Amino acid sequence: FTSTYDVIVIGAGAAGMMCAAVAGQGGKKVLVLDHAVKLAEKIRISGGGRCNFTNLHATPANFLSENPHFCKSALSRYTPQDFLSLVKRYHIAFHEKHKGQLFCDESAEDIIRMLKAECDLGRVQWRMSCGVDEIQKFEHGFIVQTAQGRFLTANVVIATGGLSIPKIGATDFSYRVARQFGLKIVEPRPALVPLTFDAPSWAAFVPMAGISLEVDIETGEKKNKIVFREDLLFTHRGLSGPAILQISSYWQPGQSIRINLLPEVALADELIDAKTTSKKTLANFLAAYLPARLVDGLLVAHEFDGSAKIADMQDKRLRLLSEKISRWELLPNGSEGYRKAEVTRGGVDTRELSQQTMMVNKYPGLYFIGEAVDVTGWLGGFNFQWAWASGVAAGKAIAEA
Ligand code: FAD
Repeated sequence: FTSTYDVIVIGAGAAGMMCAAVAGQGGKKVLVLDHAVKLAEKIRISGGGRCNFTNLHATPANFLSENPHFCKSALSRYTPQDFLSLVKRYHIAFHEKHKGQLFCDESAEDIIRMLKAECDLGRVQWRMSCGVDEIQKFEHGFIVQTAQGRFLTANVVIATGGLSIPKIGATDFSYRVARQFGLKIVEPRPALVPLTFDAPSWAAFVPMAGISLEVDIETGEKKNKIVFREDLLFTHRGLSGPAILQISSYWQPGQSIRINLLPEVALADELIDAKTTSKKTLANFLAAYLPARLVDGLLVAHEFDGSAKIADMQDKRLRLLSEKISRWELLPNGSEGYRKAEVTRGGVDTRELSQQTMMVNKYPGLYFIGEAVDVTGWLGGFNFQWAWASGVAAGKAIAEA
């Protein structure tokens, strides 16, 4: 063997670095392995290069999982305030963008440097650009066979994330290890991802590319219904922006999404009132509420004559138009996939893991943390908060063992 360790963390991303730092500072001999050349590529590109590193209002309700209770323990033991204290200790300048989302003022590199410094305090060792061929269980731990030798370790932490953005090194490694050890996996799917529509049905909306507005967006029925108020962005291929990214995590293929383009306006009432008070055409009237380009497209798509005078229209038609704008129903044909998805939903089934430590119930010493696990956050800093919290949970458990 090249060396023996207390713990080998596979994946030098957000969760892996946090876990390594905590275990190392707890006195354990830690090795971090990653097949990439550089540390934490996803942190580097996150939040448009400024890393939305947490969300002040994070609660378990901001996460999707087949077991929504699983994340509670780790999230309550390492909170957004805990991460913020670390950021402040390193004098990293930050700001709140909106809705509790905290970003670096300067660069996501500040967060990577901070995590690296925390690892250095724990004397963490590194093997970068080091592929892992195999993990084998033996009586006293695990053998990790890599491109740079065979290592012996008491604990292995799988922190290799999900499938999003293969271009920067995402692989299915965590799922392969889970399968090898006979663990259940909740089917992975792209999440926080733009949705696409059939080209013919979308043709009327292509000229609207670039328009952005705040909407209510929903999918699902009855107790499965979920609603977000966020910005919607029209693109050449479909819809994007925070509204769509949020709803995409809940959207199931074959389901429709519903959009209220004017969430603050009782449009049917306003249109019917206007019959007696306004001489405007439909297009002019609506242009007071929505971008003119969008109004034109909506009227064409829903077969309304924009030059018709409101006063001459039947209430029934005005109600129908209002319905099309306030409850615009769309059937996506898919998403932009892992190439564009910010995260992967699904992953290692939480029923296989301890919610306190992230350790596999059946295999003491084997841990899964971060995005590899079936816990997926909303847009807005929640996914990093899960990476930090699950990393700390595993790191502490290993340090205390
Ligand atoms: P990762 O950070 O993905 O780390 C996994 C590591 O494992 C990588 O270093 C990878 O190289 C390594 N690895 C993978 N396969 C192997 C293998 N076979 N062998 C060895 N190593 C391997 N979340 C937020 O909360 N806020 C944001 O602002 C934000 N912005 C984002 C922007 C983009 C464009 C993207 C794609 C994601 C964003 N996210 C954001 C999501 C967030 O980046 C992830 O949820 C988070 O990085 C997950 O952490 P992780 O440690 O589990 O995995």
